[in-house]
Amino acid sequence: MIGKSLGGRYEVEQRIGGGGMAIVYKAHDNLLNRTVALKILRSQFGHDDDFIVRFRREAQAAASLSHPNIVNVYDVGEEDDIQYIVMEYVEGSTLKELITKKGLIEVEEAVPIAMEICDALDHAHHNHIIHRDIKPHNILIGKGGRVKVTDFGIARAVTSATITHTGSVIGSVHYFSPEQARGGISGEKSDIYSLGIVLYEMVTGNVPFSGDSPISVALKHLQEEIVPPKEINPKLPQSVENVILKSLVKDPLYRYQSVKEMQRDLKTCLDTERLNEPKFMPKIDDEESTRVIPAITPELMERLNGQNTATGNRQEYQPPQGKSKVWLKGIAWLVFLSLFFVVALYGFNFILSIFYVPEVNTPRVENMTLQEAQKALAEKDLKVLIKERFSDEVPQNMIIKQEPSPGMRVKENSEVTVYVSKGEEQIEVPDLVGLPERLVEVQLAKLNYEIERKPSDEYASGTVMGQTPAAGTLVTPSKDKVVVTVSMGRQTVVMPNLIGLTVEEAESVLLKNGLKKGTVKNEPSYSPKGTVFRQYPFQAGSRAPSGTEIELMISSGYPKDAKEITEPVLVLLGDQESANIAIMVTDARGKDREIVNKTITQSETFDVKVVLSPSQDATITIYNNGKIMEKRNIRYSTIP
Ligand code: ATP
Ligand code: MG
Repeated sequence: MIGKSLGGRYEVEQRIGGGGMAIVYKAHDNLLNRTVALKILRSQFGHDDDFIVRFRREAQAAASLSHPNIVNVYDVGEEDDIQYIVMEYVEGSTLKELITKKGLIEVEEAVPIAMEICDALDHAHHNHIIHRDIKPHNILIGKGGRVKVTDFGIARAVTSATITHTGSVIGSVHYFSPEQARGGISGEKSDIYSLGIVLYEMVTGNVPFSGDSPISVALKHLQEEIVPPKEINPKLPQSVENVILKSLVKDPLYRYQSVKEMQRDLKTCLDTERLNEPKFMPKIDDEESTRVIPAITPELMERLNGQNTATGNRQEYQPPQGKSKVWLKGIAWLVFLSLFFVVALYGFNFILSIFYVPEVNTPRVENMTLQEAQKALAEKDLKVLIKERFSDEVPQNMIIKQEPSPGMRVKENSEVTVYVSKGEEQIEVPDLVGLPERLVEVQLAKLNYEIERKPSDEYASGTVMGQTPAAGTLVTPSKDKVVVTVSMGRQTVVMPNLIGLTVEEAESVLLKNGLKKGTVKNEPSYSPKGTVFRQYPFQAGSRAPSGTEIELMISSGYPKDAKEITEPVLVLLGDQESANIAIMVTDARGKDREIVNKTITQSETFDVKVVLSPSQDATITIYNNGKIMEKRNIRYSTIP
């Protein structure tokens, strides 16, 4: 799938996750140039025409919703038997991942999350769309903490025929409302119930009902009372427990009437004056409560088992034929009743003996190793359900907590859940090479790291050029450190002056400075023959990247149109006994070059060589003790 293009515009980049029905990929929409999430229906559903029609209809309905707390559905499509939904890509994690990571979510954080989910549901309900599959896996928490609900209505596409295909759809049974579990009509109140379960899970770390099979979980939704969340998390304010209790009433009639009502309750539940309010009691009298406990219907069995038990052969009671005398009837009744009582008495004791299970106290296994805990629980004839959790505090293989808590009276052979520490969570080091330095902090937010800088010819300055440990390595945040090497760009040196040097001299200066000799060109110039008159591309004093090749221009002698003459200069001192004489020349070779600097007596003649070019005449300036004595101009045009 990776690298494939769908609908001529969505390029599949990377797998993000997968549930029971679909696999989710990160993809790029080339048309609108944005990242999207692509949900591709698993192939076993791709051949079920009925299902496809329902899937597309629901996805299109969801696409009509637009709300900041709802994952936007952009497009629904089909290509080569592949059914897909294009959605807004939410970078972050699912609420499930968050709960698993943290163990449980503090109430100050959980209540606002629930309120944002209410916002999303309220908007959907106003548009007559029921979610039907509210669970932490379908709640995405974006980078900025924004809560986004996804998969609106998709669950509706799943029927009893498809429900058993996969483990994950069945997984939803933990969040099913009683009416959904029974296969009845599910409406707004079902979403409220499921949200109640999500809130329960957030604040306690566990769903209220679990079991070995989907049926057993569904039955618990129908028949069992939840363990009040305060019993698991005693810090929980009564007001928050009340919200949970009120959303989890089995009879939809007595739940919150709307999501809005639940949200209003959530809004004030953390107000100080409400924290210790009286416990919520559902308004159900005894008759009512027996009425709402439903039986396991064949539909339910079918829904959860995928087996058709609807065709059970119930035998109708047939009344006896013919007439009987009244007194005979009386005796028959008497015999029947006495027999009934005898059988009932024995039967009752017999049944009791079958169902009577002795009770034991749960031993304390917290802070034991898993093996010790297993032994201790086995001694009490209790079963162990092992759940693994990361923990920064409890060492690996030690029990973090147990459910039920120590000292509870439970039936023999019942199950005790132990949470075993997997030690501190290990994090996979991401691949950083090639990233700009500013992204390192984001990528390594949870890790300890250090930045080290080195020059590099290959990587631009500020780019990550290396890392230890390598990408993909698992590290422990508290112990390990990631060292990231960031390029300083190329190292530079100060360019030395090469003008006037011979090729050999220039080369040795270049090598000493970490530079190299580049091409050497010979060209006519006014510089002395055989010396460098130009260095390229760096001038003396500028900074050059080390290792750069420097091109040298060597003078091959004066150009053809140069004129070179020797000008005799006679200096007469007159009545001065001696003087310092300096002669400066400006000509084609350069400005104000000192040719002579000497102390003379009486007089002396100097032969001053000058070189003229068509654009540069020559000037000879003679100084006597620092003062100009004479300035002589020689024009190019006057020389034959
Ligand atoms: P179910 O099949 O019951 O819906 P599920 O919700 O766990 O189960 P999917 O809906 O297929 O499975 O989602 C799988 C994973 O893909 C999610 O857990 C989530 O990590 C990721 N995911 C889903 N939608 C998005 C999205 N819009 N943006 C980013 N990641 C997403
Ligand atoms: Mg989902």
